[in-house]
Amino acid sequence: MRDQTLCVRHPDVSHEGFASLGTPTYRASTIVFPDAQSYADRKHRGPDGYSYGLHGTPTSRTLEAALTGLEGGVRTVLLPSGQAAIAVIFLTVLQPGDTVLIPDTAYPPVRGFCENFLAPRGVDFRIYDPLIGDGIAELIDDTVKLVWTESPGSTTMEIQDIPAIVKAAHARGALVGCDNTWATPVYFKPLKHGVDFSMEALTKYVNGHSDLLMGSVSVADLPLHRRLKDTMRMMGFGVSPDDCSLVLRGLETMAIRLRHASAIALDFAQRMEARLPAGRVLHPGLPTAEGHDLWCRDFTGSSGVFSVIVPPHAEAALSDLLTAAKVFSIGASWGGTHSLLAPMSVAGSRQFGRPEYEQTILRISIGLEDPEDLWGDLEPIIAAFAEK
Ligand SMILES: *Cc1c(COP(=O)(O)O)cnc(C)c1O
Repeated sequence: MRDQTLCVRHPDVSHEGFASLGTPTYRASTIVFPDAQSYADRKHRGPDGYSYGLHGTPTSRTLEAALTGLEGGVRTVLLPSGQAAIAVIFLTVLQPGDTVLIPDTAYPPVRGFCENFLAPRGVDFRIYDPLIGDGIAELIDDTVKLVWTESPGSTTMEIQDIPAIVKAAHARGALVGCDNTWATPVYFKPLKHGVDFSMEALTKYVNGHSDLLMGSVSVADLPLHRRLKDTMRMMGFGVSPDDCSLVLRGLETMAIRLRHASAIALDFAQRMEARLPAGRVLHPGLPTAEGHDLWCRDFTGSSGVFSVIVPPHAEAALSDLLTAAKVFSIGASWGGTHSLLAPMSVAGSRQFGRPEYEQTILRISIGLEDPEDLWGDLEPIIAAFAEK
């Protein structure tokens, strides 16, 4: 071979005796085949085989398998963001004429996707009270093919009765999906409670370093996996092996990060609740929380994200109070090593829930900084909220 060819072809080197604790980053668009017949037969490799980089590499398959193990499922697929993971589930299940039920407390872009993308294409959606429990049976007619859940709910943190919803949905032949981003599979396992699609925004706790976006869907049923893969192939969705290798690194510390953030968040929530009027602190681990009994029954822990309702008298000072924080950063997304504050508004977008939800709600995500430094930032905020 001449020099120009030698530049292009990488030599084969021995892997024998090489064992690393890290997962190699296998990059590929092209997958090469040993002979022309294997190439012609590549479709027979099925959804678990390697045929094209978009459909998986050993790096992405390692992450998928790790998540499958944690979720207690049979397969996992990876998508370029949490929102893309939700969209792929909806697009896989729903046809024109079908209906999806979504909770009032769903991650807001879910409602946007239903309103602005699905509805114009003939897929209907209805919004339900997240605390409906087995009352959901009354909303499930023959057109309902998917019931979406998110527990706890975005910003206002209501815990849903997932087993009751699954029972009612399955009785009418509808599938159930759950956005499990807050709990992660360490603290709640949707598939074990009968959910068909367990979805995670890996962007949050699993990657855990606020530097990439990815989503996952785990299933306990092989035909459902094949249907998800078919949708992804048609849409051209895949993930970068470099990102997968970062998520695999983040996953290694996830359980420890969660345990740390969980303890501090619950401690802070209790300290705040002691100083504020009843019902202001929204954390499912507090006995006053909506669905706390369900949380005790179904979850094995709470993560580091919770909310506080901003009282009307503190609204005007809120910007200055947040800007004065030294350790917390201000920003969306959560679940990383850096603690975050985000003033949220659900005003005007909720059909169910408490009148106080018209006020600003401060979302708090606990990271890995020293807890007393964090409390130093929160104390003046809570003092201002407690006035009057
Ligand atoms: C962030 C988030 C998503 C979306 O994840 P992205 O990766 O940012 O698209 C979905 N659901 C919940 C509950 C989230 O917090």
